[in-house]
This record gives sequence, structure tokens and C-alpha cells, in this order.
Amino acid sequence: MLKGKTAIVTGGTRGIGLAIVKKYLENGANVALAGSRKESVDKALQQLSGYEGRVIGIWPDLCDPEAVAKAFAEVKERFGKVDILANNAGISSRTSLYDYTLDEFSKIMDLNVKAVFVCSQAAARIMKEQGGGVIINTSSMVGEYGQPSGCGYPTSKFAVNGLTRSLARELAKDQIRVNAVSPGVTRTDMVAALPQELVDRISAGIPLGRVGEPVDIANAYLYLASDSASYVTGVILRVDGAAMV
Ligand code: NAD
Repeated sequence: MLKGKTAIVTGGTRGIGLAIVKKYLENGANVALAGSRKESVDKALQQLSGYEGRVIGIWPDLCDPEAVAKAFAEVKERFGKVDILANNAGISSRTSLYDYTLDEFSKIMDLNVKAVFVCSQAAARIMKEQGGGVIINTSSMVGEYGQPSGCGYPTSKFAVNGLTRSLARELAKDQIRVNAVSPGVTRTDMVAALPQELVDRISAGIPLGRVGEPVDIANAYLYLASDSASYVTGVILRVDGAAMV
């Protein structure tokens, strides 16, 4: 579905991001996976044997426009273009408002919102020049409902939805589609660390009866990146088993 295309996936070293990287590689794309450190990027690359020459690692500070522009230019030089940007890197927190420090709030907003802005700008500049592209952001079900603690995280995902809808409208004239995937509870390291009993209780509250797997989310990323979604832009696609928190 993505033969000949080039994708950049932020937070591509584990969890949902690594599942997106694998899905894109399986479907013929060249991929640059972005992580926060060279060590985690190298560890992820070791899990992708068989795709040598089609996958590279980058680790720019995602909030630094110059570092991101330089890294994306390197990707373009290596693979010839940048067709897809998956803005997936994100962190969460469940701290109560009474204990929330400004520093913690800023860290969440920096990675979950500012980095999405910085990476989208750098990618859009390349995509406009080459005649189009696709940007896909990672929202969350809490970006629709909020959550009862850790207010910074849902706030950041509401902002991601706002950026998605606004950039879809702004960039359509340049043939750049902008969408978001909104996962429900998904079995990454965070969920794997929970006791099975708690996972069972969460699953029981989800109409489809189970938590999501990273590949469920990656499949949505594949569809939105592909030409099958050529008339789809400005959409926040829920992939959550119809969960409501
Ligand atoms: P994860 O913690 O397993 O992976 C997060 C990724 O972000 C890692 O690759 C990590 O290297 C990267 N990252 C963290 N800090 C970084 C930084 N400062 N700079 C660059 N990269 C950094 O998380 P996940 O569960 O796979 O989540 C991926 C995305 O999905 C996030 O945006 C998250 O908000 C969203 N999401 C997850 C769930 C869930 O239940 N797992 C639900 C809804 C939304």
C-alpha cells in the first residue's frame, strides 16, 4: 500500500510507534524512525532485521526547529522525498492538579504539542515543494472526554485535535492531508506493566471486550497514509473499541 513512499515516524522506538514503523516497512515504504536517544534508536533498528537499507534512525530534539529541519533534510537526501509524517511521540502523566508542577505541565505540552507543530512545519515545507504528502498525529480518547487526573495530558491531546483540524484546512491547497488517530487503551509498555486483573477490568468496560494492540493502531496509520484515504483529511479517527472513559 505504500510502495515507493518515505515515512518519518516519531517515537518509533517502541510501543505504537514501532508497530507503525513495522507496518509501513511491510507495506513497502522507506522509514526513518525518530527516537529521543541514539541508544533506543539502535535498539529498535536491531528489531528490524530484513529491512536493512530501507530503515534509518534519527534522534533530533523534536522541539528544536533547526535540528528537526536538518534531520528531515537528511531523510530526504537519503530516500529522495518525505511523503508521510507520523507524529506519534508522546508522554503522559496522572499527577493531580494540586501536585502538578509547571515544569511537568511544560514537558507534556512540549513533546505532545510543540513537537507536533515543529515536525509538521518541517515536513510540510518539504511536502509542499514536492507536490503533496500526509501528516498523521496521535491523539487519544482522553482528547475527547478529558480524564480525572493528569490534566496536562488530555489538554495536550485536545490541542493535537485542534492542530489537526486547522492544518488540514490550511494545507489542503498544497495537497497535504492532515489527520489524527485517536487510540483507546493500547497494550504498550505502560499497559503491560499493569496487573492482569486490572487489564481485565478495563477490558470489560470496552464494548469490543479487549484493550487495543499496537497493530490495531498501526493499521489505522496505514490506511490514513495510503492513497486509499486520498479524500480523507481533517479527521480524528477513533480506534478504541467504542470505549468511553
Ligand atoms: P511509549 O511510551 O511506549 O512510547 C513513546 C515513544 O515516544 C517512544 O518511542 C519514546 O522514545 C518516544 N519519546 C518519549 N519521549 C520523547 C522525547 N522527549 N523525544 C522524542 N521521543 C520521545 O508510548 P505509546 O503508548 O506507544 O504511545 C505512543 C503515542 O500514543 C503517544 O502519543 C500516546 O500519547 C498515544 N496514546 C497511547 C495510548 C496507550 O494506551 N498506549 C492511548 C492513547 C494515545
